[in-house]
Amino acid sequence: MARVDLKSLIAVTVLFMLLNGGVLGLVHKSLTADVQPAARDWRIATLLSAAGSLLITVQYAYPPWFILPLANGLLFAGAALFWRAVQRFCARPHPAFMALPAVLGVAAVAWVSVSRETHVARVLVSSPVWAIYVFAAAWTLIRHGAPVARISRLVLIAIFLIVGLFIVVRAVHFSVAPQVPDSLLVADAAVNVAAIVLLSTLPVIGTTAFILMCSERLRQQWEHAAATDDLTGLPNRRSITATGNAHFNAARRAGQVGTFAVAVIDIDRFKSINDRFGHEGGDIALKHVARVLDTHCRGPSLVGRQGGEEFVALLDIANAEEARIAAERLRQAIESLPAPLADTPLPVTASIGVGVMAGSDADYDAVLQRADRALYAAKQGGRNRVVLGRDA
Ligand code: GH3
Ligand code: MG
Ligand code: MG
Repeated sequence: MARVDLKSLIAVTVLFMLLNGGVLGLVHKSLTADVQPAARDWRIATLLSAAGSLLITVQYAYPPWFILPLANGLLFAGAALFWRAVQRFCARPHPAFMALPAVLGVAAVAWVSVSRETHVARVLVSSPVWAIYVFAAAWTLIRHGAPVARISRLVLIAIFLIVGLFIVVRAVHFSVAPQVPDSLLVADAAVNVAAIVLLSTLPVIGTTAFILMCSERLRQQWEHAAATDDLTGLPNRRSITATGNAHFNAARRAGQVGTFAVAVIDIDRFKSINDRFGHEGGDIALKHVARVLDTHCRGPSLVGRQGGEEFVALLDIANAEEARIAAERLRQAIESLPAPLADTPLPVTASIGVGVMAGSDADYDAVLQRADRALYAAKQGGRNRVVLGRDA
């Protein structure tokens, strides 16, 4: 069997790492500001790992006390930065003491390089350093990465765990095997070939997964922004309409026409709040009412801001009376919790129109219109009340 030329393999690997890091550099500007620090760490980690790997291939040209601590130092710093990139991505702290394993690792490698020139000793002192960073990064992604991304995160976790397990297996193997290679570059040692195969594939897959994780976060942020009302943080009109349509269609498919209702909630005389307390005061009152509605609209019900001082609640109910009771509960909640506006909290009231889905309704909009007409009746009737729309 032809001998594998590990030096060339590492050189190709380094090239891949650099290209991959380059791609990350190219997409850097299109990442959101919140992931840019993590991406910068990841890129520098890629460069440090590439430089460290390159030095390993030329180690025989230099004295070991010089080249080995330097090469390992670059690799340790790379590992530490991969870990910090993950911490930053997941908005976790990255205390400076976590540089300690890398620093101690360099000192230990320098010591064994000078005193006992064996590859095994170097592997045994460097393995804990790798293991700490790799398992710490995997742990952060498992524990704190969940809301961030799906597949790309799982790929990254798998990579960190594979690397970590390999490091442990290699260290154990080197401690017990009767014969171990005296350098990473000895090609007939299976453990070396495995190390370099992992080294040549995982950073590329890892960096790709990291870039995907960044873009997945970007997509989530856009989706959230497109569906959320800026001022109150509630679902916006577009979002509530989409959900309303889904509820309407689900009720119709299930043949349960009377189990879906829409409540339109409009703050009474809101203009006068704006007039008295200014637009900022009005905004405080809006946020307050939004919070009240949100806390009182739990379970299958959903509330959003339709626009201006008007909110919409989607109610899953058993019958029309239940819809009226649910709306009445919302009205009472608003009335009983004054807005934190002035020195003395300001009482706020709202009128609510309820439309219950009927068999003749073509779509969600028909139910919404029925609720709107009921709201008009509630305003006409003196405000601060619930009116159930009865027209078909
Ligand atoms: P009614 O009891 O009949 O509902 O009277 P109203 O004053 O609440 O209703 P009207 O439609 O006359 O006034 C609504 C006001 O809401 C007018 C508009 O300036 C104000 N408004 C709409 N959006 C916002 C907002 O985002 N912030 C603030 N502060 N005011 C808003
Ligand atoms: Mg109003
Ligand atoms: Mg209005």
